[in-house]
Order: sequence, then structure tokens, then C-alpha cells
Amino acid sequence: MIEVKNLSKKYPNGEHQDYALKNVQFEVNKGELVGIFGKSGSGKSTLLHILSGIEAPTSGTVKIDGKDIAGFSNRALTKWRGTNVGIVFQSFHLIPTLTLVENVMLPMEFSKNRKRKRQRALDLLEQTGLFMKANQFPESVSGGERQRTAIARALANDPPVIAADEPTGNLDSQTSGEIFNLFQVLAETGKTVLFVTHDLDFYGKVSRRLQVQDGSVYEVHKTE
Ligand code: ADP
Ligand code: ADP
Repeated sequence: MIEVKNLSKKYPNGEHQDYALKNVQFEVNKGELVGIFGKSGSGKSTLLHILSGIEAPTSGTVKIDGKDIAGFSNRALTKWRGTNVGIVFQSFHLIPTLTLVENVMLPMEFSKNRKRKRQRALDLLEQTGLFMKANQFPESVSGGERQRTAIARALANDPPVIAADEPTGNLDSQTSGEIFNLFQVLAETGKTVLFVTHDLDFYGKVSRRLQVQDGSVYEVHKTE
């Protein structure tokens, strides 16, 4: 599903002329729940951004579903991202003036028919446990509910990959556990879920661990 080879990333205007990622390689299978762990500044966000087509690598190959996105132009990358990856942020990034269902409809590309989009958005909110709150605004729901709305939005175009950067960073531990459970369910239905986290509660529960350290990525195999 994902095959990364000789991946390096150097920021053109980085203060020190060092690599944010150095010669990284790994593979991820479809339906895996991948935790990306590591200290602040180690390169986790850079790795996630490259895998989700937000940033281009300096060199190497990044094959996702057989396509090497490392060779894509910015324009091609943006188009690819729209239907191939759903992105989830720490601070949710919902539009406050739109209801939850309208937020979920925003990225939908498959149809111009508003009624069909609304129906699909409602189905996704049902999947993430928010059907009853579809017509509320983000400010009137909890942090966990906002993140579940953002996850429904990430699923809008049925992408094979979900990429989340510290998705539970603003949530208490019980709510974080609920978000993690939702990711587990998505992985069971065949989505490949990648998420950066500092939360060691998830360390033993993911199907794959990638440890990022000073721009290198190590696979940490499960001992049990
Ligand atoms: P993490 O997510 O693990 O905290 P990052 O991927 O954000 O790490 O950063 C890895 C390294 O790349 C750090 O040294 C950081 O300062 C540098 N870096 C990140 N983004 C940029 C950027 N846009 N320009 C220059 N350097 C950057
Ligand atoms: P959070 O606060 O939720 O972690 P940020 O606003 O810090 O999210 O965004 C994380 C990173 O993703 C930033 O480096 C930002 O440049 C990038 N980013 C945010 N929104 C988008 C977007 N819609 N498309 C591409 N990159 C984005």
C-alpha cells in the first residue's frame, strides 16, 4: 500500500543545513493502524506531511497505491490529495459558521448534487457517532465531537489513507481513547491510518510503530 524508499527531506530555508529526514525506508500494508512516535523536532510531522501530499520530499520514492507521489508536481499533488488522503489536525480546523454536516460536505468532490452530498455526510456522521448533532455548530459540541466531525470530513471522498497529526493532543484521555477506537474501526474496514502521537497509551495498541529519531525512522516491532 505504502512503500517509502531512500526518502530525504531538506527544507530550503531551514536554519541549519541539515536534513529533516534522512534516507528513510519502510512499508505499510493496507488496513494498518500506524503510530508515528518520537521527540519534538525529530521529523514526525515532516514524514506525515510527505505521506499525505502536503509537502514534497527532496529525494526518494513515496509509492502509495502504486503511484510514486514524490515525482508529482505541486498541482498534481493537490489533486491527488483531494481523493486519496483524508487529513485530521490536532485543532480540528472546522469552519465555525457551518454546521457539522456542512463541514463534512465541504471537501466532497464526487457529485454536484447537494442532496446526495448531504446524505453521504449524514451517513459519515452516523459512522462517527454524531448523527444526532448534525445540525449543530462546532462551538456547541465537545472537543471529542469536533474531532469526530473532522474525521467524518476526512472520510468525505472515501480516501484509502487517513493521516492525523496529534489528533488527540487537545483531548482528555478518555476522549482520546474514543478517537483511537474510531481509528481502529476505520483500519478494520480497510483504511490505512497513520497518526503522529505523543500518547504512549497507544504504543501497545497500534498494528505498526514507526519511531522517528533525528530524521531517521525505525520500525519498532511488537514484542508480544
Ligand atoms: P516533529 O513533528 O517531530 O516535531 P518536524 O517534522 O516538525 O518534527 O521537524 C523536523 C525538523 O525540521 C526540525 O528540525 C524542524 O525545525 C525542521 N522544520 C520543520 N518544518 C520546517 C520548515 N517549514 N522550514 C524549515 N525547517 C523546518
Ligand atoms: P494543528 O494546530 O491542528 O496541529 P496546524 O495548523 O499546526 O494544525 O497545521 C499543521 C501543519 O499542517 C502546518 O505545518 C500547516 O502548514 C499544515 N496545514 C494546515 N492546514 C493545511 C491544509 N489545509 N493543507 C495543507 N497543509 C496544511
